[in-house]
Amino acid sequence: MNYSKHNITGVTSDGRHFIVNPLSGNADILDPAWMDDFTSGRWKHKDDYAAKGYIVDPAVEAVRYEKAYREFIASRANDEVQLFFVPWYACNFACTYCYQDQYTNPSQTLSTGVVDAFFNYVENNFAGRKKYITIFGGEPLLDGPAARASIGGIIDRAKTAELDIAVVTNGYTLSSYVPLLSGARLREVQVTLDGMRETHDARRPLKNGGSSFDRVVAGIDDALAAGMTVNLRVVVDAENIGELPALAQFAKDRGWTALKHFKTQLGRNYELHHCQSERSKLFSRLSLYSRLAEMIPDNPVILDFHKPAFSIAKFLFENGELPQPLFDSCPACKTEWAFDYTGTIYSCTANVGKKGEELGTFFPDVTHDAAAIAHWQQRDVTSIDACGNCALQLACGGGCGAVAENSSGSINSPDCRPVDKLIGLGLATYFHKAE
Ligand code: SF4
Ligand code: SF4
Repeated sequence: MNYSKHNITGVTSDGRHFIVNPLSGNADILDPAWMDDFTSGRWKHKDDYAAKGYIVDPAVEAVRYEKAYREFIASRANDEVQLFFVPWYACNFACTYCYQDQYTNPSQTLSTGVVDAFFNYVENNFAGRKKYITIFGGEPLLDGPAARASIGGIIDRAKTAELDIAVVTNGYTLSSYVPLLSGARLREVQVTLDGMRETHDARRPLKNGGSSFDRVVAGIDDALAAGMTVNLRVVVDAENIGELPALAQFAKDRGWTALKHFKTQLGRNYELHHCQSERSKLFSRLSLYSRLAEMIPDNPVILDFHKPAFSIAKFLFENGELPQPLFDSCPACKTEWAFDYTGTIYSCTANVGKKGEELGTFFPDVTHDAAAIAHWQQRDVTSIDACGNCALQLACGGGCGAVAENSSGSINSPDCRPVDKLIGLGLATYFHKAE
């Protein structure tokens, strides 16, 4: 018997040892005697360790791994596909960290021919798959009759095709769009609020420098009052993380956090395609989660607003079991695709509109770069050499292909996630030490 290749061990931020094995599905916080015995290799409790898959016959583990991989691929084939559609890249905001601000896509209006071609493409190429459409930008909910007519047209086509939609918006015009969106098969509206008024406005001003905070807050209020699911996103870096407790309290005082149809996400501000902002402001994944773990005990209101995942720690806490092994964390060209008003097909939101990342067209003709698509589709921890011997692989999933490509030039390279450290932070946050 050997130690499993998939044991993730570490120390929680409050000093307890732990072991997690995503392949066998077991996890334990270890007492010191257990830890000493386990690491000694002399194994007084060998049967216990074997029963949990922490020590294994390597040949048996290899078979278990292959089986789990086949199950992952088969299950993903039934997962819902998220199809992003960009009706334009124009935007009424000038966010300090926008990754699209250097894109030079032609500003042409969305034609009904493109919308028709998009829905035909979806019908033909995703027949039999569960799917929904996310309207993305730029800013999709621009003011003015032309933009409203275009968004209304997409909503109508989606209804005819019996497809749900979601909308990603900066929220500035959301109130005025509520009547139009109320007629949609709307799954959710994602809105970004980066802090209280001064902070939010400094990061997410209007193009002319004007304030956006009050309009975004009113949009969230109105959308929630109309029964829409609002997914509030906070893009976090060192500049605004200190405001998270105040924002959480604000959301609580406004009654948002008590609503079942109010959701939140924290987005890490990071460098994607070019230097978006001062590097010193950006958090690594680990420094962001470390800071959150530090802040939560003194500011428990943060957890009313958002419960950070800390890799698989929150899932374990909420479900009492580990998630299925994660052979791939990048949905590009598998359960995510992106399309824009020029008729071009891309792998995902990180690449939509980016020169050199085109994978084909759906208008005026349907074309595919089959080799490039296949390259995205084969990316997972079994195809990235560096992941093969990594104990973290089934909790990490190889990270983001676009980030990997930006740092190494190849999508088939790792975007490492410090999941052992994240789990340590999460176990301390959610599984409190016995007093
Ligand atoms: S490349 Fe990155 S952003 Fe795009 S789908 Fe994969 S993980 Fe998501
Ligand atoms: S991306 Fe890095 S951390 Fe993740 S599985 Fe691959 S080698 Fe391990």
